[in-house]
Amino acid sequence: RVKDMGRNGFGFYDSSMNSNVQRNLMLNMRLHQAIQQGDIEIYYQPILDLQSRKIVAAEALMRWFDPELGFISPEDFIPLAEKNGLIHKLGDMVLLEACTQAASWQSISPITVAVNFSSVQFRYCEQLQETIVDVLLKTGLPANQLDMEVTESLLIDQGHSLMKMLAYLKQLGVGLSIDDFGTGYSALSYLQKFPFSKLKIDRAFINKMATSSSDESLVSAILAMAKSLGLKVVAEGIETEQQARFLQQHNCEFGQGYLFSKPIPAKEFMALLQRERDRKRLLLTS
Ligand code: C2E
Ligand code: MG
Ligand code: MG
Ligand code: MG
Repeated sequence: RVKDMGRNGFGFYDSSMNSNVQRNLMLNMRLHQAIQQGDIEIYYQPILDLQSRKIVAAEALMRWFDPELGFISPEDFIPLAEKNGLIHKLGDMVLLEACTQAASWQSISPITVAVNFSSVQFRYCEQLQETIVDVLLKTGLPANQLDMEVTESLLIDQGHSLMKMLAYLKQLGVGLSIDDFGTGYSALSYLQKFPFSKLKIDRAFINKMATSSSDESLVSAILAMAKSLGLKVVAEGIETEQQARFLQQHNCEFGQGYLFSKPIPAKEFMALLQRERDRKRLLLTS
């Protein structure tokens, strides 16, 4: 191996590229099976009001545990599913499951569910719109308890039908969040053009706040800008009390992160909501 590399610097890269291709081929095959066998689960990560520290929402996140390969990150399999078209099936699955769960939370507390959408799912706008309306009707979840999370890549090549769809969903009350804010490359003018209701600051910025004062300035600038555009802000990836306090002091409305909770199975999330409600009742009666 080392000798190969000495002769042409490509030997090493070739073999690692090869095994990458092989792994992706295998994951592709397994993903088909996983969907059929129901091996893909949805976890929920609480989103808190940073002032009251109460749960106000949950983000639905896909979890794939393969019996042999173990945990496979959505960062690995979502891009594959976008290429092989399975993202449509996966996307419909997550939406239905998340809205069904969220409808059952409403009797405890008016919790919003945030569902991630891939830009690829918007290639068939009319169909997606129909699916969303169907799911809301079928599950009985109020439209304003659903937030759609999209990334900047959706905003490239946007056509008339996308704008029409987003306007329609907004009118129904469905929320639209810009996810991973700060990691893309588009001009900021899209923030005015699209009917966003929330902006999610990427966790890379939150993470570096403690060690970099320029990241702190960046975060407070984003918060000021969001405020002037009328957008609510969710900070992602809050891991320390210090980060939470900084964000709270700069009027960031919402936060999620390991400090509060990792993504957890639906059952555990339900139990968490019940505990929160019981605690409130206890406080009221004592
Ligand atoms: P995202 O939408 O930005 O989701 C937030 C990610 O940050 C999640 O990673 C979550 O587990 C992680 N996170 C939250 N708090 C913390 C923290 O305090 N520390 C650290 N280190 N991480 C934190 P996850 O679940 O691995 O998902 C990664 C990405 O995969 C998501 O990023 C999203 O882009 C995509 N994804 C996951 N589920 C779905 C889905 O159902 N549909 C689509 N289209 N994409 C999905
Ligand atoms: Mg998200
Ligand atoms: Mg994000
Ligand atoms: Mg992300």
